[in-house]
Amino acid sequence: MRILRTAAELNWTADKVGFVPTMGAFHEGHLALMRKAKKETGFCVVSLFVNPTQFGKNEDFDKYPRNEDRDFSMAESAGVDAIFAPSTAEVYRDSSTVVQVRGVADLWEGALRPGHFDGVATVVAKLFGLVRPTDAYFGLKDYQQCQVIRAMVRDLFIPVQLHLEETVREPTGLAMSSRNVYLSEDARARASLLSKTLQLARDQIATGEPISTALQIGSKMLAEAGMEVQYFAAVNPAMQPIEQVTSPSRLIAAVRLDGVRLIDNVALA
Ligand code: AMP
Repeated sequence: MRILRTAAELNWTADKVGFVPTMGAFHEGHLALMRKAKKETGFCVVSLFVNPTQFGKNEDFDKYPRNEDRDFSMAESAGVDAIFAPSTAEVYRDSSTVVQVRGVADLWEGALRPGHFDGVATVVAKLFGLVRPTDAYFGLKDYQQCQVIRAMVRDLFIPVQLHLEETVREPTGLAMSSRNVYLSEDARARASLLSKTLQLARDQIATGEPISTALQIGSKMLAEAGMEVQYFAAVNPAMQPIEQVTSPSRLIAAVRLDGVRLIDNVALA
């Protein structure tokens, strides 16, 4: 596996390049994307870059888990061909461009984390320009992020085929996340209630319960278990709330548990 630090080193001859952008602290969710990219394209490039512009002022940029050596060996075992781990200066230099996706980025994560999706869209556009992938792989765990990137690729005519992959979970149902290391053992056990509640709400809606009732029941269950519910909603791919199930649609949720923010979602239809 090649380890690359600068833009000048990024040159490939492969017909297809399958790209997985990440912020490191790898877990099985990241590795599943890498294996898929390798299998489907034959040449997998991963970026490992903790992007400062997508973190808010009071967020966890400084303490975000970083362990390059561990990540490099995990990526190598997953069959990754090259890993791009640049410095912030290499990516941003004296940048004056910000990519802003409107509409789909406005609510939910966008409302709670102002500027977050500008940072995400800008860095993904930069990484697409640097890596020049034919295919790019993202996790549906970050459902709104997927919709933001989809909109950006469509609107800017970026010639990349997107692949959005289902969430990899712990045996308890908890969605894997680099930030799960912030959870105490007790909080980690309680955190699985989030996915269980999403599934319950999905099942209730499937058996004819009105969406609004299922959302109320779910929010109440989470709050009673000591979670601060930031949102619990049913949305279409434009990230607008829906009252009737349309296909495709999704239940999305964000909570805080013992100071740790968790997000998750499930398909409704
Ligand atoms: P991150 O390093 O958190 O920025 O994530 C890098 C990529 O991995 C993003 O496309 C995420 O959506 C994806 N990802 C993170 N967690 C999971 C998971 N549990 N299952 C599948 N994909 C994931």
